[in-house]
Amino acid sequence: MAHLDLALVAIHLEPSPRAVPLGPAMLASVLRRAFGPAVTTRVVDCFKAETPETCAARILDGEPRWVGFSMYLWNRDLTLRVARLLKTLRPGLIIFAGGSEATADLAGVLADPAVDFVLPGEGEELILDAVARLLQGEAPGAIQAAIRPAPIADLATLPSPFLDGTLNPTADSGQLWELSRGCPFTCAFCFESRGEAGIRRVPMERVEAELRLFEARGVAQVFVLDPTFNYDRRKAKEVLRLIAATAPGIHFFFEIRSEFIDRELARLFASIRCTLQIGLQSADDAVLRNIGRTMDQDAFESRILLLHQVGATYGFDLIYGLPGDDLEGFKASVDFALALAPNHVDLFPLAVLPGTRLFETAPSFGLEHQADNPYLVTGSPTFPPAAMARAAQLARGCDAFYNDGKAVPWFALVQGALELDPSELFLRFADHLETDPGENAIRDFVTAQFKALGRPAQGRVAADLITCFGLTARLAERAGAGQPGPDAALGSFHHDPALLLEQLAAGFTELEDLSYVLPEAPCTARVHLEAGEPRFRILSR
Ligand code: SF4
Repeated sequence: MAHLDLALVAIHLEPSPRAVPLGPAMLASVLRRAFGPAVTTRVVDCFKAETPETCAARILDGEPRWVGFSMYLWNRDLTLRVARLLKTLRPGLIIFAGGSEATADLAGVLADPAVDFVLPGEGEELILDAVARLLQGEAPGAIQAAIRPAPIADLATLPSPFLDGTLNPTADSGQLWELSRGCPFTCAFCFESRGEAGIRRVPMERVEAELRLFEARGVAQVFVLDPTFNYDRRKAKEVLRLIAATAPGIHFFFEIRSEFIDRELARLFASIRCTLQIGLQSADDAVLRNIGRTMDQDAFESRILLLHQVGATYGFDLIYGLPGDDLEGFKASVDFALALAPNHVDLFPLAVLPGTRLFETAPSFGLEHQADNPYLVTGSPTFPPAAMARAAQLARGCDAFYNDGKAVPWFALVQGALELDPSELFLRFADHLETDPGENAIRDFVTAQFKALGRPAQGRVAADLITCFGLTARLAERAGAGQPGPDAALGSFHHDPALLLEQLAAGFTELEDLSYVLPEAPCTARVHLEAGEPRFRILSR
């Protein structure tokens, strides 16, 4: 068998539509263009749950001379274990690493004897130089000494790994799609804020050609790599119009900034299939200023309202453990976020990543954090360890209740009737999960809460809403993702579910009113979707 020159390895978190080896493929593309058949490369996919032995065997298939790893925070440990094993199995192998973790902790990664050199920053130009030197037989030490990291000034100079066939988008797959590099903002916890090259964009001709390819191949989901997609509204609108005209069948995921949402942009988002993620982080301006951000709650609300009015799907990220924040402040941020009816909410602990500005300023805030990967904050003067643990419970409760529970359509109704702030509701649910983690945990919990208030009839209506919308969301999700499986589901109800939805559509907005008008009629019903709407057949009373 002809020997392979270079294996470029991506270790993914898990098999998912996002598990696309875009970084290694970009390097393979530039090498192919520069060296042609003189350098053979192969992109290798591995997964975090795999053993080093499995990864090593896959990498060694084809007997490469050199191996390059894409190293991120979450795959650093496995990457280094695989690299050490490779060195044991093939002592002559030359191993290098790139990616954000290798960039942030160059000295630390290089200190591992299994790593011969590191390509920090954007790798496409560096790898050309490194491979040219490897071909000339230069030693890794000399290659490392010669490396001059610099951002790619013009992304138009890079080949597209989609258009040159390095990546092969297939039907029903997901794709990572890079539209820009760099970020103009200065969030202290983020690597991107250290970029000095400003925003650089992929040219529109390439954007259009890649979109056409995705649509022609039947790609199901595209994750847009552009940390502030709508910073340049004019460009963002241009891309959205192109998507609407070229790729209406694909679901896109965007990260956007709230400041740059306007009415027209909101309408354009609503005109395509997409999900928007907005980094709120905290609703407290004083806390945000500690990490280089600001917040005007009224302005934020009015811009989110624009999305809400047109029916766009959006979610928020929030962080707990921020400098100057405390548990009560974090709960207030969660309550602020939930009042804006997001489709999903993700709550994360703060990480103090080496290489970020926060890593340098953390001591001045008294932030204590793990010394190693994943560098999570463990406490601060205002957010002691016990409060961090409680915030983590809140995050678990929120995820299980709101996100996994598909709670958007009924959350306000149930939360309002229970007269609990969302954060308090999630904390109580997290406590409930400790003793009842079963698949009916949300129903059981909500029913028990209403019972404790002496309003069991409202609990039964709430339970039916939860079942009704939960089953509908799951059927819709399965159908949307083209997953195999039954196109109907069975549910147990206290009332006729069709009648319940009719009353909701008629404008009932209080659980108490619904509990008066709906006759109790315990039943089992079969649910299926017609044009996306649930239809019920009562099987037994
Ligand atoms: S968090 Fe987002 S907006 Fe802030 S610096 Fe990073 S990429 Fe830019």
